[in-house]
Amino acid sequence: MTHSHTQADLPRCRAMLGQPNDYLDGDLAAELCQALETHMAGCHDCQIVFDTLGQTVRLYHSLDDAPAELPADIEARLLLRLQEKASSAARSEH
Ligand SMILES: [Zn+2]
Repeated sequence: MTHSHTQADLPRCRAMLGQPNDYLDGDLAAELCQALETHMAGCHDCQIVFDTLGQTVRLYHSLDDAPAELPADIEARLLLRLQEKASSAARSEH
């Protein structure tokens, strides 16, 4: 089954990816967690972003004196990539 990103998905992606640290730390509300997992099952972009985030977080947690949260610039870069995708998709609609 092929599922490509539609414009309707992108605001949801950004809303969900706004709290990756909470999700990865298990602090996110259970129903929100489930919505995120359901969304990711059909959204390749979010799978990649979360896979990357998860690996980064695991790496951080494996270090001594690891910060509890991702560095802001890593998170910002991942979100920026999604926003670039969103704006290029919006442009191609015109
Ligand atoms: Zn998504």
